[in-house]
Amino acid sequence: MRGLSGKVAVITGAAGGIGAATARRLAAEGAHVVAVDTDETGAKAVAEALPTQSAWLRADVSAEDGVAAYMAAAVDRFGRVDLHHLNAGIAGSFATLPELTAAEFDRVMGVNVRGVFLGVRAAFRQFAAQGAPGSIVITGSIGSLRGSADLLAYQTSKHAVLGILHGAAMYGGPLGVRVNAVAPGIVPTELFAATPAAAGGKDDMVRRASTTPLRRAGTGDDIAGVVAFLLSDDAAYMTGEVVSVDGGANIVSTVRPSGGAGAWDFAAVDRALYGEDRS
Ligand code: NAD
Repeated sequence: MRGLSGKVAVITGAAGGIGAATARRLAAEGAHVVAVDTDETGAKAVAEALPTQSAWLRADVSAEDGVAAYMAAAVDRFGRVDLHHLNAGIAGSFATLPELTAAEFDRVMGVNVRGVFLGVRAAFRQFAAQGAPGSIVITGSIGSLRGSADLLAYQTSKHAVLGILHGAAMYGGPLGVRVNAVAPGIVPTELFAATPAAAGGKDDMVRRASTTPLRRAGTGDDIAGVVAFLLSDDAAYMTGEVVSVDGGANIVSTVRPSGGAGAWDFAAVDRALYGEDRS
């Protein structure tokens, strides 16, 4: 991909899952990575395994001083910041709407929205200070675009980051700063580790993912490739865009018999395609 080699990339939530995959992909493209996470051990392990000069830092993205610290550390180490992937996030609880506490709502919004606001703001301040623009990608979610009844705080937060995306892309465009988002579907990571066996938790991710048109769960690498593309000069004419990376989950029509979302008869699809049931 064009324009990634030699660049300095700051990635939040880089200790595992999608953030770690992005760190590996950007480093493979020749970028220097600053891996930021509350999990310092994980961030260190990811950074130390990268092929380019890279760094790690323990920081909480929901705290103003945490964000200031990771931006300062990146500048101290590499002299500038070119790319920022705002990816740290938490799922919150599966509490129903009447049961969701205000404290839990605030906790999720703190990481997923305040953290993205602080990170985007810090990147814009750094681009101004260094006199050179950069590129930003926010990790949204299929929850940025769709609803379900049991993840209200998470979905609200992931809708809210699209507001940051649109405002930042409008502000940044004339400055040469592009801001885009990815909207992953189902990627088995530690995101739902706290509620593995609950319906909608980690344990049934693979089964639910099989109801998408592509019939499989995503991988961190599936998302990282699109993040790297959006950060690269190959996406030079894209800004303010939300790119779904979800196996087609976002396009299903639940009001058509052939519309997917659990309505697929995979045995019939297999018989039509292969002459046998492979599901
Ligand atoms: P993950 O739990 O493996 O990674 C999230 C990382 O963020 C963790 O390493 C965690 O320690 C870190 N983190 C959490 N709170 C933090 C904070 N306050 N400050 C700094 N770091 C913090 O999960 P993931 O699936 O890789 O999630 C990455 C992003 O992708 C999240 O924004 C998530 O909402 C989004 N996403 C994931 C999926 C999925 O199916 N996995 C789907 C859509 C969107």
